Amino acid sequence: MTKTRDRILFSREQIQARVAELGKQITEEYAGKEIVVVSLLRGSFVFAADLVREIDLQVNVDFMTTSSYGHGEESAGRVEIVHDIRTEIEGKDVLVVDDILDTGITMRGVLDHLQQKRPASLKTCTFLDKPSRRQVDVPLDYTGITIEDLFVAGYGLNLGDYARNLPYIFVRETVEE
Ligand code: 5GP
Ligand code: MG
Ligand code: MG
Repeated sequence: MTKTRDRILFSREQIQARVAELGKQITEEYAGKEIVVVSLLRGSFVFAADLVREIDLQVNVDFMTTSSYGHGEESAGRVEIVHDIRTEIEGKDVLVVDDILDTGITMRGVLDHLQQKRPASLKTCTFLDKPSRRQVDVPLDYTGITIEDLFVAGYGLNLGDYARNLPYIFVRETVEE
């Protein structure tokens, strides 16, 4: 019989520790500045909420929703801005936050879009990175954990319509019994 089993890759405690380190690094590197954090919905809402509470700077938080053409788990090459940020970012230091960098297509589209608004600086931060899947070149300035080519869920990342609320990151595996 075929069953599924969830294998935990990163526990709540491991995630918390890494997010705290990232927050500290960002705080040090932007010392004395005010930043605009742009959180990409929906996947990054949990990570962004944790990360901004580890950043000891003046932080303005805004959100952006994108959709990639195509469906399912794959990006299809073009990114549509479904909901844009409302903050005026011209001359501001902007940090784009996402859950995971996979093909890079989403982040590339977001960076190209935000660059047109003439920020003073534009950097990226994703909690997870799957470099083996990259299709387009994207600068990744801050990253939590590098993983192999696995479809992961939890900590904001969806498994179908669910699992975004789970505090750990896991892989659903099928096993023969
Ligand atoms: P990219 O455009 O870099 O291919 O994909 C980025 C987006 O695809 C992420 O923000 C996320 O929404 C989704 N994604 C990529 N890999 C995974 C994964 O392993 N699990 C889940 N749940 N979503 C993923
Ligand atoms: Mg996403
Ligand atoms: Mg998704």
